[in-house]
Amino acid sequence: MAQHEAIQGLIKKYNENQLSHVFLIETNDKMAALQDIKDFVKVVNCPEDYTPQCSKCNLCHLIATDQLPSLEIVIPDGQAIKKSQMEDLKQKFSSIPYLSRYNTYIIEDAEKFNASSANTMLKFIEEPERNILGFLITNNRENVISTIKSRCEIVKIFYEKENQGISERIYELAENYLYKIEVEKQQTIVYNKIVLDEKLEREEMVLFFKTLFQIYYDLFQGKSISEKLKVMESFSSQILMARLRLVSEMLDRLNFNVNLHLLLDDFVLRLEDSYEHLWCEV
Ligand SMILES: [Zn+2]
Repeated sequence: MAQHEAIQGLIKKYNENQLSHVFLIETNDKMAALQDIKDFVKVVNCPEDYTPQCSKCNLCHLIATDQLPSLEIVIPDGQAIKKSQMEDLKQKFSSIPYLSRYNTYIIEDAEKFNASSANTMLKFIEEPERNILGFLITNNRENVISTIKSRCEIVKIFYEKENQGISERIYELAENYLYKIEVEKQQTIVYNKIVLDEKLEREEMVLFFKTLFQIYYDLFQGKSISEKLKVMESFSSQILMARLRLVSEMLDRLNFNVNLHLLLDDFVLRLEDSYEHLWCEV
């Protein structure tokens, strides 16, 4: 997907050495913004000349799959971001990163700071260690505690309605697909037809797999998901981890000129395999 112009703006500032160290990202689509921020994190850390197809380096792969130790994504613990979460973050980033150029944190739902976690956050922002980048994401900056807001550079990442239409359509497709293969679990390869019939462009297929990744990832983090897929909340973290690895491998392969039909068939077969494999291990 083309980079959002707000991200291009950040890249320009980075190249001019004008980058702030903490940003408040206001967006109408948190999921899309998170992906775009992660792409930016790749740009500033990639040891190669980063392009959106960067498949050469392990670093970009680790970022895409949330496995890079120096990238920390904080989600509220229940209704609020807790003080202990901020203390953990501060502790973790008290040493300079060894794999990447920056220690980067991304805080989802920045409107969920409470007074005490905001306090810890402020100290963290005001006494910055070197090489730390922070992104706080919110739907509405007016709901973010003003002391935090005033210390951030505000960046708006708004997505066009048309794109939103596409991501909603893809989300619905991904949900229906998972319902068939994970909840009903019957004749799975047959259901690839519901995806193939959509005649997705390659970019849309990438979005489709990113959506699958997000759903598995939400489950992995214990977030509740749509009623339709509720059954999947009982999946063990071992199964979910295997799923995440598989989906990220598919995303890697989509960088190359693969046949989408074969890719999907392979995905489903390997999914069934890993299922049996995990059953055997128990
Ligand atoms: Zn790279």
